Amino acid sequence: MSATVPSRARIVIIGGGVIGASIAYHLAKAGEQDVVLLEQTEIGGGTTWHAAGMVGRLRTSSTFAQMCDASAKLYAGLEAETGEAVDWRQCGTLYVARNEERMFQYRRTGAMAQHLGIDVNMVGKQEAIDLFPLQYGDDLVGGLHIPDDGKVEPAGVARALAKGAAIRGATICEHVRVTGLQVANGRATGVLLESGDVLEAEEIVLAGGMWSRDLGQKFGINIPLAPVEHHYADSNPIAGDIDMYPCTRDADGCTYYLTVHNKIRLGAFQAVTKAWQVDPVPHPFSFQLLEDDWDHFGPPLEAGLHRLPILEEVGFERFVNGPESFTPDANFMLGPAPNVPGVWVCAGMNSAGMAFGGGVGEALAAWMIDGYPPYDLSMVDPARFAPEQNNLEYLRQRVTEALGTHYLMAYPNRELLTGRPLRTSPVHDVIKAHGAWFGEKAGIERPNFFGDVGTTPTVEYSFGRQSWFAEHRAEHLACRESAAIFDQSGFGKIEVTGVDAVRVLNRLCANDVDVDPGTLVYTAMLDERGRFFSDLTVLRLTEDRFRLITGTAQRIRDLWHVRRGAEGSDCTVEDVTAASAVLSVMGPSSRALLQPLVDGDLSNEAFPFGAVRELGIAGASVHAARVTYVGELGWELHVPAAEATTVLEAVLAAAPDHGAQLAGHYAINSLRLEKAYRAWGHELSPDETPIEAGLSFAIAWDTPAGFVGREALLAQREAGPDALTKRLVAFMATEPSVTLWGGERLWRNDEPLGYTTSAAYGHAVGGAVALGYARNPEGVSAAWINDGSYAVEVNGQRFAIEASLKPFYDPNRSRVLL
Ligand SMILES: Cc1cc2nc3c(=O)[nH]c(=O)nc-3n(C[C@H](O)[C@H](O)[C@H](O)COP(=O)(O)OP(=O)(O)OC[C@H]3O[C@@H](n4cnc5c(N)ncnc54)[C@H](O)[C@@H]3O)c2cc1C
Repeated sequence: MSATVPSRARIVIIGGGVIGASIAYHLAKAGEQDVVLLEQTEIGGGTTWHAAGMVGRLRTSSTFAQMCDASAKLYAGLEAETGEAVDWRQCGTLYVARNEERMFQYRRTGAMAQHLGIDVNMVGKQEAIDLFPLQYGDDLVGGLHIPDDGKVEPAGVARALAKGAAIRGATICEHVRVTGLQVANGRATGVLLESGDVLEAEEIVLAGGMWSRDLGQKFGINIPLAPVEHHYADSNPIAGDIDMYPCTRDADGCTYYLTVHNKIRLGAFQAVTKAWQVDPVPHPFSFQLLEDDWDHFGPPLEAGLHRLPILEEVGFERFVNGPESFTPDANFMLGPAPNVPGVWVCAGMNSAGMAFGGGVGEALAAWMIDGYPPYDLSMVDPARFAPEQNNLEYLRQRVTEALGTHYLMAYPNRELLTGRPLRTSPVHDVIKAHGAWFGEKAGIERPNFFGDVGTTPTVEYSFGRQSWFAEHRAEHLACRESAAIFDQSGFGKIEVTGVDAVRVLNRLCANDVDVDPGTLVYTAMLDERGRFFSDLTVLRLTEDRFRLITGTAQRIRDLWHVRRGAEGSDCTVEDVTAASAVLSVMGPSSRALLQPLVDGDLSNEAFPFGAVRELGIAGASVHAARVTYVGELGWELHVPAAEATTVLEAVLAAAPDHGAQLAGHYAINSLRLEKAYRAWGHELSPDETPIEAGLSFAIAWDTPAGFVGREALLAQREAGPDALTKRLVAFMATEPSVTLWGGERLWRNDEPLGYTTSAAYGHAVGGAVALGYARNPEGVSAAWINDGSYAVEVNGQRFAIEASLKPFYDPNRSRVLL
């Protein structure tokens, strides 16, 4: 298969593991004629060859399930297509449960898979045992079975994909090592080879597995991943026909087991594992393993012997300790490198590269060819990670935990604990002393809720109400009835300054930002299809100075998007995130609380909704913005980092007189859901237009130069609302005890409708509130929405839910405009 390296190619893929090979295969299949794949050793010789080979579809999100479904379907026909031994066996996957909580998880994720058309069966205890008769099952309560899942010979899959690519015209070069990138004017133009040659290229894909971070580092491309030691052991042969037993996961025992012909492969996802402490990742390291580590394998081995007593009899013939790369949030990276146009990243597969490989290659190829992601891939966008998360010590701590998350109970809101704190808000110490329980997003600590002052609260996770329900209720109601103080310093903050700033931003933004200085604008940035690239708030501080406030994980993505939009213009685009804190005071008492503290007039007349004013407070000059994401009167105070503590302390000192209290992100989430305010990555993504998302009010159709995406959006507007086949709807559970987290299946008149994109308990309306897209090929008119009878599925049961195109709380905004 190995060919000579040409001097130029349209697309170069670095890495011939399952991922690189799959990308090459899909590009070639889509008709890309000029694709070169470079592999430093041999195809499949990196991490791929020692994968256990399981290809399972059950995932915690619809995007992930969809990708794994695509992989399984592809692998099933790959051997016939290429003649390369893939050894696909459709043996199914069995997930066994030792307790009802685990069954809850399987019903929850199983419902999502069913929604995508995957055959999923919940099974009882005996059925679970019968599916893998060598199992001891007295301690099982049941399980979930996916009959169409399968297993493969991993290196064979990589070879077959590479061969399938070569058959279609791609050039596959083995024993060719890339040592660097060639970059001209900020854009990648080729790769440097160990031989000293340069291979010119228009597009370069970094699919170098655990080597990708080191390669990215040289060019400031952020690929935060680190390898861990990952284990399985193969038994000696077992008598009997066991080859088609399902790949089985006993998550409560941190183990999986599958049959490989007449042997059992017992693998581990220990709660805590070991980072492979190398820097850089060595080369060559091909078809190689790390030293056996039976000690670290001890607890999963014990769990495996308990479940499969036959292993005690036959013993083991081989131990596999292979390195695999993990990332800070245990999800892989797929998409463009934000800061170097022409470079794409697909790496950090978190021990699921075989299951995802086919779907990942298909998605990236489509993105590269069409210029747009084929569906929402924001949860794997490489730009979601902050540069600070590429610190090796942080990564080494984090990956020891990331591996175990695969088999931990997939509770909503679960926070990872290692490598923290990494980044903190300027008021971190103050809110910590006030009893904050922190979560982490893009490496920054954010308060989720508050316990008692001076304490560090603990959390008990659950699929039902979690242990912080009472604190959450108090914070939520304080905001509705008096006032709440939020630390939202994690927001991304980008300043665009210069004479061309307004022109650049008005082209990128769908709303009109050419407003009077001292005004803010909520806007989308769209792609040419009229779908979301991002959503953000733009503060016009002066004629030539704008501050963009964007989501914590949108900071890097938006920064580079705006920078590219500003190329050739007279303005600068700077990330100023760390320079200021954002302290929000929200609620009907916020004016009374803040007025005595500031040197400006907060009355409605002097400070209307949407205004931004420079005010003095506690000796600091701050930008106060009259805006809300919780649906109440309130102000966001943008405070210089150095003065943030002083300002917060002044606000906190005044708080008791106004019934105000600190509140966290859990309250923000439930408050915004009562108001049906949308969130990036949940309701807003490159899958939607603002019209489908119900955000037409934030489009300025007739700005002088128009905006990116206008033409496509105009066509949708002209077709009228009744022509929409997808539309965002607010939901509220009728029964107050129902708990929703997002990701629950929705039904209309007993027909599948979609699923909730996010949900929380709405304490002011007295029930779980959610958002979700209603989809109907015949149209989603208001009449169609209003005519239906709706249900939401929780733990296999359906509960009545109301649907509305308006928020359930304060639909007329009277509280915001107080
Ligand atoms: C013990 C174990 C069990 C596993 N079991 C499963 C399983 O059952 N199911 C599953 O889905 N996943 C499993 N995995 C995970 C899976 O193996 C990986 O996610 C997957 O193989 C990663 O593929 P990749 O292509 O990203 O990386 P790799 O296979 O490592 O490929 C990257 C390639 O890039 C090449 N390369 C790197 N740098 C350069 C350079 N500078 N120039 C040229 N070439 C370069 C490397 O030589 C390598 O071949 C398992 C992993 C382990 C360790």
